[in-house]
Amino acid sequence: MVSLGLEDKVVVVTGGARGIGASIVQLLVELGAKVAYIDVIDSEPPEGVLALKADVTKLESMEAAGKEIEEKLGPVYGVVANAGITRDNFFAKLTDEDWDKVIAVNLKGVKNSIQPFIEGMYERESGSIVGISSISGDRGNAGQTNYAATKAAVIGIMKSLAREAARKKVRANAIAPGFINTEMVKSLPDKVKDKITAEIPFRRFGEPEDIAWAVAFLLSPVASSYVTGEVLRVNGAHHT
Ligand code: NDP
Repeated sequence: MVSLGLEDKVVVVTGGARGIGASIVQLLVELGAKVAYIDVIDSEPPEGVLALKADVTKLESMEAAGKEIEEKLGPVYGVVANAGITRDNFFAKLTDEDWDKVIAVNLKGVKNSIQPFIEGMYERESGSIVGISSISGDRGNAGQTNYAATKAAVIGIMKSLAREAARKKVRANAIAPGFINTEMVKSLPDKVKDKITAEIPFRRFGEPEDIAWAVAFLLSPVASSYVTGEVLRVNGAHHT
């Protein structure tokens, strides 16, 4: 029987209470991992999952959550920096507040999600980090200059971290999802959704599970042990 080798590995998922994050959590549990998630919203975790309320924009809050996770579950092997927000507006109308908020969660939040665990990974010479980027960071999207800037940055972080961490056998990769059926896109007007669907060669949005399987692949010490600094696009051929 083959396995992805994630049994008993401790993995932390940010923004795991709903959407893509919840799907990642569910699949990792099914693959035998010990999973903790961090989110700002109240939620009922699936059985066996440790749920913590913390804010990725605050390093101290993430360090405290990290400490609690390691005390309860053991040394962390994997981090999935998934928490993200949108505050869309055309650039000419974009407020400083919406610029700063998106940068805080999607950019600083990624740094804060990884930093509490990186030294431990280096010491153990074992670890895999996955940052959730976006098709918007890859090819741009009108109305999302703030969001796209952070999602392009996630790719820059992962590629640079991959180079730094390789000597310690720690890997870092990004996933750039296309449009995925979650609350984040449900709020788009039907007209906009129809227009986007017509542009996607697969003629449908992706499902959160499509991203979860890509995450499992990149976390796996068996399936992707030589894959690092890569961007995996999961988008139904919705390329540039
Ligand atoms: P959701 O909004 O459904 O879920 C994101 C979760 O992260 C929410 O529970 C959210 O809480 C939480 N979160 C927000 N801010 C923080 C914070 N400061 N600290 C901790 N948790 C926080 O999003 P998706 O599942 O759709 O998206 C997940 C990731 O995938 C995001 O990074 C997104 O940018 C990316 N992505 C999504 C795509 C899509 O089409 N859905 C496409 C490409 C990329 P709250 O509800 O309070 O905001």
